[in-house]
Amino acid sequence: MSCELCDRAGGELVWNSARCRVIRVADTDYPGFCRVVWNAHAAEMTDLTPDDRRYLMDVVLAVEQAVRDALSPDKINLASLGNVVPHLHWHVIPRFRDDRHFPNPIWGEPRRYVSPSRDTAGLDALLAERLATLA
Ligand SMILES: [Zn+2]
Repeated sequence: MSCELCDRAGGELVWNSARCRVIRVADTDYPGFCRVVWNAHAAEMTDLTPDDRRYLMDVVLAVEQAVRDALSPDKINLASLGNVVPHLHWHVIPRFRDDRHFPNPIWGEPRRYVSPSRDTAGLDALLAERLATLA
């Protein structure tokens, strides 16, 4: 069976380790949106060993911290859904009160039709810094 996250990075690859990778999502409504993708095909967190679960959450939280430091969002949304692509991945989404869907989830009904631009210039450097000890 073909799986798009087994076949492709899934976005702009910014960090990779033996177990998982971090990609930047190209979504003009959500600058700074990152995904943490488990490299091997697995569907659920409980498919991983306890050590792998902890490692993946350490990476997710390092990405969350980098996104907070770079963008100072009003809220972070962490989500693991996988209904469309059942390959384990976490969304790390900086949310702002004036973003397109706030306070709805980004996959919900839009609340407004403009998304102010954000300065993401420092994000890649902060991701590298925060993830350095997890490689
Ligand atoms: Zn897969």
